[in-house]
Amino acid sequence: MPTIVQKFGGTSVGDPERIMRVARRVAKAREAGFDLVVVVSAMGHTTDELIALAERVSPIPDRRELDMVMATGEQVAVGLMAMALRELGCAATSLTGGQAGIRTDGVHGRSRITRIESGRLGRLLSRGEVPVVAGFQGISDDGEVTTLGRGGSDTTAVAIAAALRVADTGGCCEIYTDVDGVYTADPRIVRSACRLPRISYEEMLELATLGAGVMHPRAVLFGEKFGVPIHVRHSQKPDPGTMIARESQAMEELAVVGCALKEDLGRVSIRQIRNTIGLQGRIFTALAAANIVVDDIMQTEQGESTMIAFTVEHGDLGDAKEIVAGTLAQLGEGELSVEVGLAKVSAVGVGMKVHAGVASRMFRALAEVSIPIHNITTSEIKISCIIDKADGHKALEAVHRTFGLGLGSHATVAMQTDQARA
Ligand code: ADP
Ligand code: ASP
Ligand code: MG
Repeated sequence: MPTIVQKFGGTSVGDPERIMRVARRVAKAREAGFDLVVVVSAMGHTTDELIALAERVSPIPDRRELDMVMATGEQVAVGLMAMALRELGCAATSLTGGQAGIRTDGVHGRSRITRIESGRLGRLLSRGEVPVVAGFQGISDDGEVTTLGRGGSDTTAVAIAAALRVADTGGCCEIYTDVDGVYTADPRIVRSACRLPRISYEEMLELATLGAGVMHPRAVLFGEKFGVPIHVRHSQKPDPGTMIARESQAMEELAVVGCALKEDLGRVSIRQIRNTIGLQGRIFTALAAANIVVDDIMQTEQGESTMIAFTVEHGDLGDAKEIVAGTLAQLGEGELSVEVGLAKVSAVGVGMKVHAGVASRMFRALAEVSIPIHNITTSEIKISCIIDKADGHKALEAVHRTFGLGLGSHATVAMQTDQARA
């Protein structure tokens, strides 16, 4: 029988009733004979609440200690889920990330999974049990509890699916969430967004990196690298969802398949510095060592000196500033400044490789709604514009409209999110 990893997000396990509902679904799949691993996020808004709690004690909490606090959210959820399964007569054992063998690089707050020692998971599965694994966390080789970055439970699930080679068994990784699939834009912002029945890893990775919070980017990376089919579905409904899989010819027909908005970006600017050989390498190596993902990099020459600026997520801004300040201190030159209140709107599609005029259309769409563009970046399959955060929603709607994404060209079904129903 296929092995399936089922991941349930925070909303899906938000209260005891929902936990029981999810448990019934898991127990049914187990009765049907599937080998199952369940990955669970913290209940509802627990992670936000734990961070707020920590900040009441320490305004800028120590990263290690914050990981200790945050990791408890998932631990509560897995314990409750295993209890619920046992109530239904389904043998289940809850595991922390560390107990499930998830090893990380030890960077607090944004760890990467380095390997999975799947022996314990395998033993539980061969006994017919359902391992219920805490998402979002792992343990370093030094025994430190670390978290994988916000939304990281998706990555736990896909990484386990890769380690257990679920694809070889005919299985997949199912991501159960509060929306019935991946949409052409965040359906909470763009009401005319449509569900995509299928999307390539490449496109999903871009969309996720550019702000489509439905999937954690590293989860998509693992999926692509290890060939894990990922099925995004609604946790309370039988809808067909979205398959994330390899690119197919048909996917190239559309220039743009989706658009995304990344809010709360900060910009770090370095001025009054000489453009010496190795300068850029030095600055960005220090940031990379802290697992800080830099969004856009801009460089301009101003006479004798150079200006280098880059954007990062707001949550990384403090660390980024400190790291760059350290590098400038070592160099003995350069002025540092930080701005907030920026956002990035992007259009994504593998078809861009063969379609022309996509960028100009996007720029015109933003101009028509009087939105200034502060910077532009492109790759083979995406175009991004940095804009003011205040223009974010209007920009996403304009870009979505200009590429005709809400016209039902994707075998659409009605938008269904918990918020839309409320
Ligand atoms: P979970 O707690 O289940 O992990 P998330 O809140 O992390 O759920 O992800 C689901 C949310 O992602 C949806 O409610 C939706 O608002 C948001 N989202 C952003 N972009 C998209 C998109 N392109 N398609 C679907 N959902 C999206
Ligand atoms: N609970 C964590 C968060 O809220 C991880 C996750 O939900 O994926 O970010
Ligand atoms: Mg999520």
